[in-house]
Amino acid sequence: MPKFEKVRVPADGQKIEYKNGKLQVPDQPIIPFIEGDGTGPDIWRASKVVFDAAVEKAYKGKRRLVWMETFAGLGALQQYDKDTVLPQETLDAITEFRVAIKGPLTTPVGGHKFVCLTCSAEQNEADGKRPQSCSKCSSEWVTPRFRSVNVGLRQKLDLYACVRPVRWFKGVPCPVKAPEKLDIVIFRENTEDVYAGIEFEYGTPAAKKLYDFLTNEMRVKIPFADSGLGIKPISVTGTKRLVRMAIAYAIAHNKPSVTLVHKGNIQKFTEGAFRDWGYEVARTEFRDKVVTEQELRDQHQGKVPAGKVLIKDRIADQTFQQLLLRPDEYSVLATPNLNGDYISDAAAAQVGGLGMAPGANIGDGVAVFEATHGTAPKYAGKDQVNPGSLLLSGAMMLEHLGWQEPADLIVDALQATISKKTVTYDLERQMEGAKTLKTSEFARAVVSNMTARKEPAAV
Ligand code: NAP
Repeated sequence: MPKFEKVRVPADGQKIEYKNGKLQVPDQPIIPFIEGDGTGPDIWRASKVVFDAAVEKAYKGKRRLVWMETFAGLGALQQYDKDTVLPQETLDAITEFRVAIKGPLTTPVGGHKFVCLTCSAEQNEADGKRPQSCSKCSSEWVTPRFRSVNVGLRQKLDLYACVRPVRWFKGVPCPVKAPEKLDIVIFRENTEDVYAGIEFEYGTPAAKKLYDFLTNEMRVKIPFADSGLGIKPISVTGTKRLVRMAIAYAIAHNKPSVTLVHKGNIQKFTEGAFRDWGYEVARTEFRDKVVTEQELRDQHQGKVPAGKVLIKDRIADQTFQQLLLRPDEYSVLATPNLNGDYISDAAAAQVGGLGMAPGANIGDGVAVFEATHGTAPKYAGKDQVNPGSLLLSGAMMLEHLGWQEPADLIVDALQATISKKTVTYDLERQMEGAKTLKTSEFARAVVSNMTARKEPAAV
């Protein structure tokens, strides 16, 4: 087992391995967790009780999750004698043990780190203002290191897919008439697009240099000279690995379709290319398992052949309408970074808000599951907030491990608890006749609503 400074590796668990593109999960896998800041510890404590109970109920002791604490955010500042919210050892532990789960994290304001894109030197600017040039090599290309710990985790571990299932839980108040019709999984590209962080502030020498290059050498017309400039990279590699993951997921889970969501009508060589490369992955790598919308019209009289996943594409703005008006025509969505960001939150709002929305950041052989809301600091330590998002993220994690039974137990028990109108304050204030439970009481209610199996599930 590896040696860490602050992370204690439990002696009674085993490492998850990754061989030939597949996770090999022992019966007692070591799972790194980050409690999170603010209300993170409240929801983590509650969720852990539910996760352990679900695994015990499903496998009767034959399997167990072995938790290993790692640190990030404010917790890392307290643990380590360094000015870092994302210690290297946390990244190393997650890389080594492969599947992790985290609560929400604060991105402290101040002490901003910048990195030089030419020589990779890092420098701290206490006022948060971008230095105009690198202190080591004088290059003007200096960009913020991490905008948040979450972005840092995604970049450092190359967690290239942000996966967000969005569905309605019966009884959760929401703004639409038939929320049950929305049941989608969004695969949002996590590493490129306008989120690559390549931006140049108006008035800086770097922005002027780029402006001059574009106007003089590339002969493009930028409407106004007083512009900040940004770069939107979308690559063959980034697109194909994301779409490949989305299609493989759809096939494995018997989902009817994968929709490539893009703005290719306007941005042809980035968003349009995303669509084209997405179809290319479908046709070349999943030929026997998929049918495109074009093929459906030309060869199949509009009827999807049995056992095939339909691959289609939609313009991003259209997709917002479609998810509201014809939600049941959509299942798995694969999107570039910015589209996915907007669509994930809009879809979650449609079924009652972010409070119950789980999420995961997944790469090749490494995955971090997380609550999608923030730290809600005004409720910190009050045992009050809704642990639903972290609970569902944990269910996703169990499914990712191949432990479907405890994942189902959690989802079903959560539904049962909401149906009984025993909920945390955020849902109670919108539900008639509901009873308010504390975070810990809600977790205990979820556990008591788990239907115990007579026999352990097959291992
Ligand atoms: P927030 O923490 O999500 O809280 C905003 C509001 O959402 C809360 O005041 C509360 O609403 C509601 N809320 C959030 N989580 C809830 C829960 N579990 N149960 C019930 N209600 C919940 O957003 P923020 O105040 O903008 O951000 C605070 C900090 O979180 C910032 O430092 C930010 O950087 C960080 N953040 C982290 C993540 C992450 O780690 N994934 C994501 C977003 C933000 P009411 O007041 O109406 O009850």
